[in-house]
Amino acid sequence: MKIGIEIHVQLNTKSKVFCSCTTQSSEEPNTNVCEICGGFPGSKPVLNKETLQQGIKVALALNSKIASETFFSRKSYFYPDMTKNFQITQYETPFSINGKLDNIRIKRIHLEEDPGALIHKGSTCLIDYNRAGIPLIEIVTEPDFKSPNEVRLFLRKLITILEYLEVYTRKSEATMKADANISTTGEKVEIKNITGLKEIERALNYEATKQKETPAKKQETLGWNSDKGITYLMRTKETEDDYGYIYDPDLVKIEIPKELVSKLKSQIPELSLDKSSRFKKQYKLNKEDAEVLASEQKLAEIFEKVAEKIDPDLAAKWLIRDLLKIINYNKTTINEIKLEVKHLIELLGLFQQGKITDKTVKDLLIELIKEPFSPKEYIKKHNLEIISDSGNLEKLCKEAIKEQPKAVKDYKEGNEKSIYFLTGQVMRKSKGTANPKEVEKILKKLIR
Ligand SMILES: [Zn+2]
Repeated sequence: MKIGIEIHVQLNTKSKVFCSCTTQSSEEPNTNVCEICGGFPGSKPVLNKETLQQGIKVALALNSKIASETFFSRKSYFYPDMTKNFQITQYETPFSINGKLDNIRIKRIHLEEDPGALIHKGSTCLIDYNRAGIPLIEIVTEPDFKSPNEVRLFLRKLITILEYLEVYTRKSEATMKADANISTTGEKVEIKNITGLKEIERALNYEATKQKETPAKKQETLGWNSDKGITYLMRTKETEDDYGYIYDPDLVKIEIPKELVSKLKSQIPELSLDKSSRFKKQYKLNKEDAEVLASEQKLAEIFEKVAEKIDPDLAAKWLIRDLLKIINYNKTTINEIKLEVKHLIELLGLFQQGKITDKTVKDLLIELIKEPFSPKEYIKKHNLEIISDSGNLEKLCKEAIKEQPKAVKDYKEGNEKSIYFLTGQVMRKSKGTANPKEVEKILKKLIR
C-alpha cells in the first residue's frame, strides 16, 4: 500500500495573506472582509510578508530546500465561496521543495489563500467570507506511507513541530484539512477535502480496507462523508492541467534572500526530537518519558523549570502520570491550565521532603490547575502534613482498635486482611496524612 497526503495548515498570522483584514474569528459573518479578500474586480492583493516567513520556518524545520525566488498563480475555482472564480496559490514555483520528516519525503510546500465558508441551512446555503484570504500552507508528501497509522504518527509529529514554531495552535486540529491519495495493487484513488485530524485517519482506514478487497480499476476522485463514515465517487480523476493555472499578474515575483533564510533559521527553537534526546542525556530519563515531556513545548518548559529544584525523575513522574491525566480528565490543555510553576515546585518540594502524602499532592494538583494558590499555606491551614509524631499516630490507632472490635478479633484469628481495614480507618481519621506503612506497624504492635 502507498499513501501520499496533502495537508493544509492555517498559519497563525494577525492579518490575512493578501490584505490587512484580521484573521481573528468573529461571531458576525462577513465582517472581516475588504475588497481584496472579497474578490472585487480591480482590487490589488499585496503579500503579507509574515505569512511567507512562517512558511519558510516550517519548510526549514522539515529539512526542505528554500527557493531563491517564488511567485503566485491563479487556479480555476468555480465555487461561490471564492467570488473571483480563482484561488491564488503557487504551482510552478513553490517557495520550498524536497524536504523530509523521518522517512517521509516532502515534495513541496506552498502558500495559498483559504476560501470562505459555505454554511448549509436546510435548502439554503449561506456564505461567510471571514475565512476568505486566511493564509494556508500546503504540505505535499511523496506516496511514502505504508499504512493509515503511519499517516497518523506523521501528522502528530508535524503538529508538534508547527506548535514549537508557534505557527499553529492545537485548537485548529479540527480544522486541519487534507487530501490523500492511496493505491494498493490497482489504480490510484484520491480522497478530497477531509476535515479534522481524526477524520483523516478514519477516511484512510476506510479506503485502505476497501482497496485491499477490491483494488480500483481506474483513477478516481472521492469525497468523504463523515456522518456515514464512507467515501463516495465525486468524479473520475482530473489532472492538474484541468485547473488552468496562470501566473497572477497582480503579484510581483518575490526574491527570498539567503540572509533572510539564515535569520529565520536562527529563530527556530530546539525542536521536540532534539529536546527529547537532550532530556534523556541531561536528566537521565528513559526514552518514553523524555518523548512525552518534549511532545508539547509548554510541558517541556514546565519540566525544565521544576527539574532545577526537584529531582528530575520525580518531576517527570508527577507531570506524566498525574498532571497530564488530570488535564485530560478535565478536557483542557496544558496551555490553558492556571497552574503556576512556582506552586508546583513548592508542592513537589514538600513531597520530596516526605512532608505530604501522594494523595495530598494529587488532590492539590486538581485544584491548582483551576486557580493558583500557595500549597504551603493551604497544607498548613488544613493540617495536611504527614503525622510523623508517633505518639499522635498511636492515639489514632488505639481509637480505631476500640471502635472496631470485630476486625481486631478477625485479625487475631488469622485474617490478615483485617489489618488493611483497620489501617484504612486510621488513614481516614488522619485525613490521609498518616504514612500507611507506619500505621500498619503500630497496629500490629498494639494488637499483639
Ligand atoms: Zn480583506
